[in-house]
Amino acid sequence: MTNFPSPFRYPKPKHRREFNPQHRTNKSYKKVLRVEFNRQCIYCRRPEFYKYEAFGVEHYKPKEIFPELEWDYDNLFYACNSCNSRKGDSWSTKTQLLDNVFIPNPCEHIMFEHLKFNGATVKLRSKAGIYTDELLDFNDDVSVSFRETIIYIIEKSIGDINLTESTISKLENKLRDEPMCKMGNEIKKEITNLKNKISILKNRLIECGVSL
Ligand SMILES: [Zn+2]
Repeated sequence: MTNFPSPFRYPKPKHRREFNPQHRTNKSYKKVLRVEFNRQCIYCRRPEFYKYEAFGVEHYKPKEIFPELEWDYDNLFYACNSCNSRKGDSWSTKTQLLDNVFIPNPCEHIMFEHLKFNGATVKLRSKAGIYTDELLDFNDDVSVSFRETIIYIIEKSIGDINLTESTISKLENKLRDEPMCKMGNEIKKEITNLKNKISILKNRLIECGVSL
């Protein structure tokens, strides 16, 4: 296990929605949206990391300006509370839209054309990226530290998985080479424990937004 898609990458293809639910509550929509968008904020790419409550339903076109879209699934996204509240009711004016000043979303825009990660920092690649950063402040200290921590946990977990997998394979070889080994049952128990450890580490990676 060496290569993995990091959560801190902006998608190059546009997202095609997998679901098409029709609800009348944020709570019901939130459950679908978190799966639709891989449990990550569409704007800052923050993964949930065991904090389901730190995320919510994002109305891309604000419901205060577009009340008819309040329950329209195509207008709903998954965002962290910080991006959601910073964005608030912001919406580009007609003049701004003509000048390519808008907030990108992963269904209608190629996010990577506007925003890019350099390690834990978001770089701005277009007028739309600059405008979005003015509103959402992607690189405040807390967000950058959080991303650095997540990257550290991912690297550490992958290292631990690799080490554990190699221990398992050594133990399995031992069992194969010495089928009558006195320690056979202990070795089998140890292998089971190590496999459990790997599944815990893999769940941790999923919480970090890694697609396995
Ligand atoms: Zn966010």
